[in-house]
Amino acid sequence: MSTFREDGAATLEWVASYLERVRDFPVLSQVAPGDIRAALPAAPPLRAEPFAEILSDLDAVLMPGMTHWQSPRYFAYFATTASEPGILAELLIAGLNQVGILWRSSPALQELEEVSLDWLRQLVGLPEEMHGQIEEAASVSTLTALAAARHARPQSRAVVCSEHAHSSIDKAARLLELDLRKIPGDEHFALRPELLDLTDACAVVATIGTTSSAAVDPVAAVADRCAAEGVWLHVDAAYAGSAAVCPELRGHFVGWERADSIVVNPHKWLFVPQGCSVLWTRRPDDVRNAFDLVPEYLRVSDDVTSLSQYSQVLGRGFRGLKLWAVLRCHGQEGLQALIREHVRLAALFEGWVRDEPGWDVCADRFFSLVCFRHDGTDEENAEIMRRANASGEVFLSHTKLNGRYVLRLAVGNARTTEDDVRLAWDVLRREAAAL
Ligand code: PLP
Repeated sequence: MSTFREDGAATLEWVASYLERVRDFPVLSQVAPGDIRAALPAAPPLRAEPFAEILSDLDAVLMPGMTHWQSPRYFAYFATTASEPGILAELLIAGLNQVGILWRSSPALQELEEVSLDWLRQLVGLPEEMHGQIEEAASVSTLTALAAARHARPQSRAVVCSEHAHSSIDKAARLLELDLRKIPGDEHFALRPELLDLTDACAVVATIGTTSSAAVDPVAAVADRCAAEGVWLHVDAAYAGSAAVCPELRGHFVGWERADSIVVNPHKWLFVPQGCSVLWTRRPDDVRNAFDLVPEYLRVSDDVTSLSQYSQVLGRGFRGLKLWAVLRCHGQEGLQALIREHVRLAALFEGWVRDEPGWDVCADRFFSLVCFRHDGTDEENAEIMRRANASGEVFLSHTKLNGRYVLRLAVGNARTTEDDVRLAWDVLRREAAAL
């Protein structure tokens, strides 16, 4: 059996070589449902197998079933990147296997998480009083925020948001048994503050960077209403929040500093591997009131609050390490340069669409997402996208705006170049011409 060191070196080599070649793989997996399952043994091995077998099956069996989120030609949903410092940090996280139950179960985990979140808070220009914690995903961060809002105002059972808010708000409301009131958006797909009815509301969710079109709700106006009526304001900036590292983009964030809670996902557009969502709150005591429960077997005399007292999860992983690694190894300038480049590439693509007869841009573009469609029916647009994705050259996704089928191109991969975006445009025009 080979050694941990040899296997480790081979694994690192595998990942490095994968990242060098990732542009060449079909971006969207081309397998049929069940293909991968059928290629795997139905029962576990009786005897120990060498780790090298894992790498060889990764190539032979699993790779065809990968949709390559690391590809620079991935433009679907919100494109992401697990950057190299984050990948190496994941290895350290697993090697150390820290479990943050209480402060003393890993002082480094807790204090590094606190420091990294304070660094990120400074990078995105939020005020000092914001208390941060890392959750698995924005869906968990939002659930946590809304649980705190409900706990702070137990008689009020409604959550208000725009029709364009993410489905994680619907899920959180369902789990917390809150009534969700959705109000229609305006012609820019943004929340209309004049329609906010805060009767019986414990929370409003405003979005900076909606999922469909990256629209920006008027957070300052919503904050005024929430402050006047004592309602919790949660800001969902899961995708776009990372853009606030660029001062010139901060105009889209006016008012978020007044929110009671904010979610930003470094695993979306801040080059941190999957599983890193930040929840900031200016009301940590309310979050703690909603979640604090210390059973006898966890009672200690240390006079330190543990992060588990603010969270549904008891044993948190060492996620702060990957955020810390990414913030250090890119630095403020590196992060800004990547985000600026993505915004530039999206603006370039938007310009090509605008200049091309027969194609239309369908929403304002503030960040790195372009919404557009080809003249013709919804079915034709769906077919253009299906063919483009089936070619394996690029991967895009869609949404519906004003009831019409719209294509979305999201730039967010650190390796994406102008040539990649140009290829996406060429492929789309080729498939439209072939209809
Ligand atoms: N909020 C917004 C605006 C999103 O776009 C998404 C996902 O794309 C989410 C929340 C949910 O994110 P997560 O997958 O981290 O739960």
